[in-house]
Amino acid sequence: MRQSQLFTRTRKDAPKDEVSLNAQLLIRAGFIHKEMAGVYSFLPLGLRTFKKIEQIIREEMNAIGGQEITLSALQDPKVWEKTNRWDDAAIDVWFKTALKSGGELGLAPTHEEPLTALMSEYISSYKDLPAYVYQFQTKFRNELRAKSGIMRVREFVMKDLYSFSKSEAEFRDFYEKCAKAYEKIFKRVGIGDRTYRTFASGGSFSKFSDEYQMLCDAGEDVIYVHEKKRIAVNKEVYKDDVLKDLGIEKSELKEEKAIEVGNIFPLGTRFSDSLGLKYKDEDGKDMPVIMGSYGIGPGRLMGAVVEALADKKGIVWPKEVAPFDVHLVSITGGNVEIEKEADRTYEMLQENGIEVLYDDRDARAGEKFADSDLIGIPVRLVVSEKTIEAGGVEMALRTNGKGTLVAESDIIDKLHAKK
Ligand code: ATP
Ligand code: MG
Repeated sequence: MRQSQLFTRTRKDAPKDEVSLNAQLLIRAGFIHKEMAGVYSFLPLGLRTFKKIEQIIREEMNAIGGQEITLSALQDPKVWEKTNRWDDAAIDVWFKTALKSGGELGLAPTHEEPLTALMSEYISSYKDLPAYVYQFQTKFRNELRAKSGIMRVREFVMKDLYSFSKSEAEFRDFYEKCAKAYEKIFKRVGIGDRTYRTFASGGSFSKFSDEYQMLCDAGEDVIYVHEKKRIAVNKEVYKDDVLKDLGIEKSELKEEKAIEVGNIFPLGTRFSDSLGLKYKDEDGKDMPVIMGSYGIGPGRLMGAVVEALADKKGIVWPKEVAPFDVHLVSITGGNVEIEKEADRTYEMLQENGIEVLYDDRDARAGEKFADSDLIGIPVRLVVSEKTIEAGGVEMALRTNGKGTLVAESDIIDKLHAKK
C-alpha cells in the first residue's frame, strides 16, 4: 500500500482526554479513532493488525477442534431469565434496549445462554459429544471505568469458545489442550515471555478458573508471580490454603501489576441444568452436559502488545501481528530517478509476496523516519541517493534501528531470514 493513498495521517498529539499509552500511540499512528470514552473504531492499519491477531487465535482454536460460528448480538431476555442473569444485579454491565413493538432486548455481554440453548437443539446423545464451538463476536458491556484505552472498552470483539463434554475427565482434557493453545497464541503475538497462567477465582460459576495475565504497569489486576514455575496467583485468591494446594510459598512470589488477556473457565452444569442441555448416555440415561468457556479479547491483546513493547519513539510490532512486513521509505529530494528506483523496489517486494507499506509521500526524511518509528513495522527499507550510489537499499530493524546496506538481489533472502 502506498502511504500517499492512505487516508489516515500520523498526528503529534493524542486527544487531551486520552490517558492510556496504548490508545495514545494507536491514535497518533492512525490505527484507531476515538469515538467517545471506551469506544474506538479501527482504521486501515489497526484493522490489519487486529485481523492478524484474530487469525492467529482462529488457527489455534481450529487446531484443537473448534468450529467457528457467529451468534447474534441482540438477546432475548427469556433465555437469560432461565439462568437468572437478565437481572442487572447478576450482570452489572448490561446494555439493554427496547423493541418498538414493546418489550426489551439486550446487547450481549457474553454468550453462554444463547449458545447453550442453541446446542440443546443439536445435542441429544453421547454420540454428539464432545463439541467445541467458538466465535469472534461483538460484546457490549457498560463498564464503569474506561481509562485503559482499547484494553477496556464498552464494545469489543471477543473470541469466546465453549466446550460441551460428556464427563469431567473429557472436559479437563480439553481444558488443558486449550491452555496449551493459549500459550501458543500469546507467544505468537509476542507477549509469551511476560504472560502467566494465573490461578483465579471462578466467580459465580466454579471454585477456580485460570486467567492469562500479562505483566503491565497499566494493568488493573494484582498477581503474585512464581518466576521459576512460570505460574501466578491472582490477589483475589492469594491465601495460604490456595498456595499450599499449588505447592508454592509466599517467599517465592513477587507482586506484579497485570492485565488479563484471556481466561479459561470451568462452567460445570450451571448453564446446561438451567437451559435443559442434556444427552442420553450409552444406557439411555439422561445426563447433564459439562461445559467450559474460553475467552480472549483480540483488541485488548492488541493494546497489551503496544503497552508491553513500545519504546520512546512509538509502537514496536512483533512480526506476526505487524500491519505490514516492511516499511519501504523513499528519500527522493524531488529526484525522479530515485523515485523510479523506489517504485521498482516496491513492485519487486510485492511480487515476492511481501506486505509493504510504501512511504512514497513528498515529505522530509526526518518526518518520514519519525512516522515510521511511530507506526512500528518490524523492518524498514530506505531507498535514497546515498543507498543507490552504494548499490543497494538500507535495511534496519525497528527494534534496534541500526541500518545496513543490502544489495537489491539479497533483500528477499534477508527478509525471509528474519521471519
Ligand atoms: P476483566 O476482569 O478484565 O473485566 P473479564 O473477567 O470481564 O475481564 P471475560 O468476561 O472472561 O473477562 O472476557 C474474556 C476476555 O475478553 C478477557 O480475558 C479480555 O481479553 C476480554 N475483555 C473482557 N472485557 C473487556 C473489555 N471491556 N474490553 C476489551 N476486552 C475485554
Ligand atoms: Mg469484566
